[in-house]
Amino acid sequence: MGFLGFTMFLCLLSVARSQEAMDIDIDLLPRALIIEYPETRLKNTSEELHMQCTSWRVAGESNNLSPWRTVPVECGDYVKAYMLGRSYYFDLEMVSKEAGGYAKSLQLKEDGMDAWIFDIDETLLSNLPYYSDHGFGLEVFDSDQFDKWVLEGVAPVIEPTLKLYEDVLKLGIKIILLTGRTEDKRNVTATNLMNVGCRKWDQLILRGDNDQGKPAIAFKSEKRKEIMMEGFRIIGNSGDQWSDLVGTSTASRSFKLSNPMYHIP
Ligand SMILES: [Mg+2]
Repeated sequence: MGFLGFTMFLCLLSVARSQEAMDIDIDLLPRALIIEYPETRLKNTSEELHMQCTSWRVAGESNNLSPWRTVPVECGDYVKAYMLGRSYYFDLEMVSKEAGGYAKSLQLKEDGMDAWIFDIDETLLSNLPYYSDHGFGLEVFDSDQFDKWVLEGVAPVIEPTLKLYEDVLKLGIKIILLTGRTEDKRNVTATNLMNVGCRKWDQLILRGDNDQGKPAIAFKSEKRKEIMMEGFRIIGNSGDQWSDLVGTSTASRSFKLSNPMYHIP
């Protein structure tokens, strides 16, 4: 092999090695930069969805979604897990404790005209057994089906609200129950309430014939105005819907309970 032959041999060796190096780089680079395993991708997607559904729930609770008709399909499992897990209970308990602390801090007058309004559904009574059979808010509300459930009169109590109810009663504050349920449900509602421990109230106000078709916000505002015209001071109001709390003739303080299953305008 002469000098020329030896030089060509070196060149060929160099090309082969650089090709070998290129082969390694091409093979390794994508894996070195991004390592993706199927389970990691699945976890990320699941975490993202959980965060997105939490954002949806918080936006609903803070009244930034109004109006909404059903829970988004992709958040169905999230809402179910929230309602059946401990978070829902903790959220209710926190609001109830805050409301109780506020009630105890007040200097009440001795004329017996301080009043606290409680909504009923998803405030004092839970319809979770009904909603667990109807997709936890995924289904469009069916008033006929829901009325059948209400007429059974077996809704369980919401314990943190019952605690507040008892605290408010002990303080000598009058309790007024204000609900969107209709007059024909008066007896079953009263019996259901008494069976679960709500045994005393000053007034139970339901939707009468003249209130049919009114949005909840208008109906409840009108009733609060009437309560105030009777001389009551509405010092507190507890409800799971913004339409229980806002509008006119509002309470000195309102307490919004969690409910990601449905929205009533
Ligand atoms: Mg309600």
